[in-house]
Amino acid sequence: MLKTTKKMREDLKKLREDDLVVCNMCGSEEIEEPIFAKSNSCIIIDGEPYYKWANEVDDTQYWCDSCNDMARPVHISEWEEIKREKKDE
Ligand SMILES: [Zn+2]
Repeated sequence: MLKTTKKMREDLKKLREDDLVVCNMCGSEEIEEPIFAKSNSCIIIDGEPYYKWANEVDDTQYWCDSCNDMARPVHISEWEEIKREKKDE
């Protein structure tokens, strides 16, 4: 199995923060999508499995664990905008 370094884990964390997408309804990070992953590409980092992304699934639908419903993902910066607009209403 691939050994992870402190730097790799820090890079991964930064990548998550920069590229964070959240639920457009509640802002939760706990959204999921189906993908095709390379079966033999699994690595474990900090106890979490990561797979190499292979392909999109046709008609991808997203799921929010917080809403317990279908969701649309928005970038964290868009969510900040949505929150502001909701407050102004
Ligand atoms: Zn949600």
